[in-house]
Amino acid sequence: MPAAFAPYSKLRKRAREIAWVSGAGEMLTWDLETYMPPKALGFRAEQLAHLGGYTHRLFTARKVGDWLSACEQGGFAPDSDEAANLREWRRLYDRATRLPARLVEEFERTRAHAREAWKEARQQSDFQLFKPHLEKLVALSRRKADCWGFAESPYDALAEGYEPGIRASQLRTLFAELRPAIAAVLGPALERSAATPPDLLHGNYPLAAQQAFNQRVAEAIGFDFTAGRIDTTTHPFCATLGPGDCRLTTRYNEHDFTRSLYGILHEAGHGLYEQGLPAEHYGTPLGTAASLGVHESQSRLWENHVGRSPAFWQHWHPVACEHFPELKRFTPAQLAAVANRVSPSFIRTEADQLTYHLHIFLRFDLELRLMEGQLPVADVPAYWNEEFEKLLGLKVTRDADGCLQDIHWSIGDFGYFPTYTLGSLNAAQLVHRAAADYPALESELARAQYGTLLSWLREKVHRLGQRYRPQELIQHATGEPTRAAYYLDYVRRLLVAG
Ligand code: ZN
Repeated sequence: MPAAFAPYSKLRKRAREIAWVSGAGEMLTWDLETYMPPKALGFRAEQLAHLGGYTHRLFTARKVGDWLSACEQGGFAPDSDEAANLREWRRLYDRATRLPARLVEEFERTRAHAREAWKEARQQSDFQLFKPHLEKLVALSRRKADCWGFAESPYDALAEGYEPGIRASQLRTLFAELRPAIAAVLGPALERSAATPPDLLHGNYPLAAQQAFNQRVAEAIGFDFTAGRIDTTTHPFCATLGPGDCRLTTRYNEHDFTRSLYGILHEAGHGLYEQGLPAEHYGTPLGTAASLGVHESQSRLWENHVGRSPAFWQHWHPVACEHFPELKRFTPAQLAAVANRVSPSFIRTEADQLTYHLHIFLRFDLELRLMEGQLPVADVPAYWNEEFEKLLGLKVTRDADGCLQDIHWSIGDFGYFPTYTLGSLNAAQLVHRAAADYPALESELARAQYGTLLSWLREKVHRLGQRYRPQELIQHATGEPTRAAYYLDYVRRLLVAG
């Protein structure tokens, strides 16, 4: 194959152009979520919609399909960089072009209204206000799944957009193993948590001190502040504007420094992945993260496995005391106990790392039933409340604390939730494998030396981009596909035995 095969060069150039425009869109979104004055909202929304439409047209142009077909006849070696990029471009191109333009427009219009209706419905805790919109979104999503095609379940076609290759049947098997095992850990974990009052650390933690401490921790785990920064927002996220520019965001609670700290550890975990992607492949699949389930493994690995470990607080307690003198009255073990407190609650985003998955099982089950036509939308609140009580032992009395709490369905994101649980499973499996490769890892982490772990992740995950499909990547890095066992070992050790 000649080094510069013309159709491939054209694809690469087109991908780079799309990445530049998308990066500008990311910048505008980041600004919208951080510093933008409120009156700019209408203009900014239009601007973003225009950029989104523009990149969509750039990618779905007929000649892109022609270049792809020409490349597929081009005889690239199956393990070459080109073959990996072509595989992903083909997948994305087919997904983008199989939807009729009318369906895309109808979906966009419906979800714009649905989001507004959902906000209102949540505020008034009245599902009826959201119901007609959810009915439309479910019907449109099922039509999208039909256009994309699927072998087993329409759910598969939707989940493919977040976790390429995953099947509802695989998730069902994983969750069926997790559910009783988590229930078995929950009892003893609750008993242990009862010794730690939820507001033990409640105090006064000035914003500037939190920022300074968070920055030290993020720097220590390897986040490069010459290629990124931290800003304040209401819904924390990590945005990559391009190589060398990764923006973390968090929010602060002056009475509880752990919120922003764990928020930053989480987002910095996403950020380390982004900073570790190969810049020379910027804009192509090889320079892009593998999937949401792999991305979430990186954030949860640093937040939970590193940040919530008792060893973390052994090292960081004295440093934290420099910033927050009132922490001197606590022991490192008390700080770790607070960080690992387990307590069932109504809201997913506030859940502890164990009961979190119970929230996911409910959403997965519900979405699957909606997409497979086994549950009418009208029955969602009743079904939610009944299952929630079975899973978490709490009675939902307001839809705002139940089926109306998440934004995902209102923007038409079905099939997204399981990637959070996959992230936890992948994180535990990766840490287990890294520790097997480096027996000294645990003692290094206890001394706050994070370099070996980060290098291992760089090598096994970050630098690979989308060279492999997500489950192949996990297989490659750990020797097996995603399993529940490592996560279960981890929570048993941390929350019950430790
Ligand atoms: Zn995350």
